[in-house]
Amino acid sequence: MIPASFDYIAPKSLAEALRALADHGEDAQILAGGHSLLPLMKLRLANPTLLIDVSKIAGLTEVRQQGDKIIIGALATHYQIESSELLKKSCPLLGQTARVIGDVQVRNRGTIGGSLVHADPAADWPAAILALGGQLKISGAKDERWLDVEKFFLGPMTTAIAASEILTEIRLPAAARRSGCAYLKMPQQASGFAIVGVAVSLRVDVKGRCEDIGIGVTGLSDRPFRAHRVEARLRGNKLTAKLIEASAALVSDGVDPLEDLHAGADYRAHLARVYTGRAIQAAAKRAAK
Ligand SMILES: Cc1cc2nc3c(=O)[nH]c(=O)nc-3n(C[C@H](O)[C@H](O)[C@H](O)COP(=O)(O)OP(=O)(O)OC[C@H]3O[C@@H](n4cnc5c(N)ncnc54)[C@H](O)[C@@H]3O)c2cc1C
Repeated sequence: MIPASFDYIAPKSLAEALRALADHGEDAQILAGGHSLLPLMKLRLANPTLLIDVSKIAGLTEVRQQGDKIIIGALATHYQIESSELLKKSCPLLGQTARVIGDVQVRNRGTIGGSLVHADPAADWPAAILALGGQLKISGAKDERWLDVEKFFLGPMTTAIAASEILTEIRLPAAARRSGCAYLKMPQQASGFAIVGVAVSLRVDVKGRCEDIGIGVTGLSDRPFRAHRVEARLRGNKLTAKLIEASAALVSDGVDPLEDLHAGADYRAHLARVYTGRAIQAAAKRAAK
């Protein structure tokens, strides 16, 4: 399929890109890796008349540590994150997540920011960024704002970003001592998208009790979410196999599981419980090392 015709610009600065967005309103769309937008355009499900390619803007692919925070530019590709030596040490959940996204071609072009803004309910990044309690820097023509990732996902393919704004950075805590993490998913065999995916980031105290935990879930419902009930059951307690199993059973409580040709609702809820338990176990094991 061939998309409807469109104009294309590749601004060299963020200010220029934001001006173009403001001038063209909802007719314009940001182009990052194009791995979600271009298929939609080919299917005529998205019909922008102007594509604003932000890949030429300096600084948006940067990955750096600032004190105890990790800053990821929204244009950083999945592969860049997967292969970053800094992130292997300072935020290993990101590499674990990046390396199970799609295939090599997808990881080479697709960006973390594009994935978050596209907000596919089965995408991998949302689970990891939720588990880490990330914050998103959203830039507009007049100002910029930081938003907790929990307030970002509003529904399938719907987020709190306005048509006139650009996601520019993701801020995450660097891994602390005695912390462990894991991202596990049941992939849909053709695309690699998560039928269910669970990301866990936790920290234990010297006695092995759970000091803090974040659990992000994707694929289970129409938007990714943080499993607060499971987290609350674990915080302050020793992470025994029995407690992990009982806590993981709470992950689908109050959630309306998705049902599609890949998995029914009951099966998805079952997968969520199993993968939540396994991801907590794996993270706890790493934290104990
Ligand atoms: C074959 C295939 C397999 C895939 N498998 C997986 C998988 O297993 N797991 C997974 O999670 N994903 C998967 N994906 C999706 C992939 O990760 C995409 O790269 C990602 O969803 C979108 O990133 P992008 O940079 O390509 O964004 P684009 O396609 O360029 O943009 C997506 C949307 O976000 C907007 N946008 C992009 N960047 C910004 C920004 N900085 N600020 C504001 N708006 C922005 C665009 O306007 C557009 O609406 C797959 C894709 C394909 C084609």
